[in-house]
Amino acid sequence: MAKGQPVRGASAAARAWRERELPSLDERLCTGCGWCVAICPTDCLAMAGPLPWLPRSADCISCGACVFVCRPQALALAVISDAEHPAE
Ligand code: SF4
Ligand code: SF4
Repeated sequence: MAKGQPVRGASAAARAWRERELPSLDERLCTGCGWCVAICPTDCLAMAGPLPWLPRSADCISCGACVFVCRPQALALAVISDAEHPAE
């Protein structure tokens, strides 16, 4: 589909699934507080030692709650295709 055209129907849903916003971590800023894991409404984040990761990325609803509670701003939502995301 050409860039800029509206996406419709099943292809739109498939595109949205492949290219959705997922939390992206800047490890240099993370303090390991775990608030992002605690706030996640779908329980898709977990701590792996001192850092959070996204073991259940298919459950992420891109709500941004984890980004909101991260005081050092170590998290941001970014468009990440499933092919780029190691958890899937
Ligand atoms: S809320 Fe931010 S600083 Fe705390 S563990 Fe999550 S990413 Fe790291
Ligand atoms: S964006 Fe929402 S659903 Fe996704 S990991 Fe963050 S808190 Fe969980």
